[in-house]
Amino acid sequence: MRFWYWYKEKSFILKISGGFILGIAVGLLFGESADVLAPFGTLFMNLLKMIVVPLILLTLIVSVNNSNPKELGRIGGKIFPYYLLTTAAAVLLGIGIAKWLNPGAGLSMPANTEIEVPEAPSTIDVLLDIVPTNIFQSLANGDILSIVFLALVTGFSISFMRHAKDEKMKRFGVLLSDISEAGSEVTFRILQGILQYAPIGVMGITASAIGNQGFQTLYSLGKYVIASYVGVGIQIFIIFPVLLWIFRVPAVRFFKNISEAIMTAFVTSSSLGTLPVTLRSAKKAGINDRVANFTLPIGATVNMNGSAIHFGVGVIFAANIVGYDLSIGMIISIILTGTLAAVGTAGVPGAGLIGMSIVFTQAGLPIEIVGLTAGVNVITDMIFTTCNVTGDLVGAGIVNKSEEKHLGAQV
Ligand code: ASP
Repeated sequence: MRFWYWYKEKSFILKISGGFILGIAVGLLFGESADVLAPFGTLFMNLLKMIVVPLILLTLIVSVNNSNPKELGRIGGKIFPYYLLTTAAAVLLGIGIAKWLNPGAGLSMPANTEIEVPEAPSTIDVLLDIVPTNIFQSLANGDILSIVFLALVTGFSISFMRHAKDEKMKRFGVLLSDISEAGSEVTFRILQGILQYAPIGVMGITASAIGNQGFQTLYSLGKYVIASYVGVGIQIFIIFPVLLWIFRVPAVRFFKNISEAIMTAFVTSSSLGTLPVTLRSAKKAGINDRVANFTLPIGATVNMNGSAIHFGVGVIFAANIVGYDLSIGMIISIILTGTLAAVGTAGVPGAGLIGMSIVFTQAGLPIEIVGLTAGVNVITDMIFTTCNVTGDLVGAGIVNKSEEKHLGAQV
């Protein structure tokens, strides 16, 4: 019992760092046998997945219900351009870094690497699919964009009812609003419990990943991995702080406050799985609930700066292998396709490989090379996801700052 109290008191970041370091040690010591610990990691990911759908649904309903349409329009009008511009810039950053470090030069086309290329749905289908034809199916499948849509219309309708003149309608509106808020609170309570288990889960994930992959695969694709890490490093340590500085958000304090989310993204490789912690970190960073609860669930689904860097680096890596020289026109079209592919990339481990296949197909590059990079994706996905989540929080922090006079928020 005393151990439990001692453990509970320790900070979350300390606990997951401990789990991570222990996981590396176990993975290195026991190699593939460390796989026996994988179920502990799977359990953690399952717990996070369990909470994600109700969390998105309820936090968005509550946030829309508590804000007025004008306020949401204002916040949306700021956050969406931020998402698109930073994503497009991140593809370009990936291209630039890879041009500089030249990963893939000297490597030859892989033989027998096969990867299934999913057929890319048309843009119009992607947009139409956002509206769920069966809400229960969307909830069960975890179609996040459809769930976001459902939450938005429900939140607006409840708010409309609360402000109705009719007394009965008003009463129902208040009742539904209270139920959603109570539901949202209970998901946060459940989350607190899940996070107590996080260190063991993190240890399981890390031990099996390191045990299976070891550091050998790193050697053959070392430059590709280095280019990915350098690209994300520039985004996180230079571009994001500069953006924060421009909008007068104190960067050091901000990063300190969001460190839990950064660490969780790194070890889970899933923006969506990290979302519960991202929301908690936003609170810590002083981001108003109305901004955080509206922007972060959407950001975890569509804003992927790290995946965008992934595509930029990947394209140059492949071009170097096959000896293509990309024209300016091609680079522009890669930036456009890369941005759309990043928006379409789901916030789950490994999803970037699908986006990269789409970009490669459009650019006429052999998709077998995606298969080649898949070998080190466990290692690169960690850093791309970290960048994805950090980008979501930086966006929320900037919008929050610009909303200060409307919301009385403080960062
Ligand atoms: N794993 C990333 C994320 O969850 C997506 C990707 O694979 O690029 O944000």
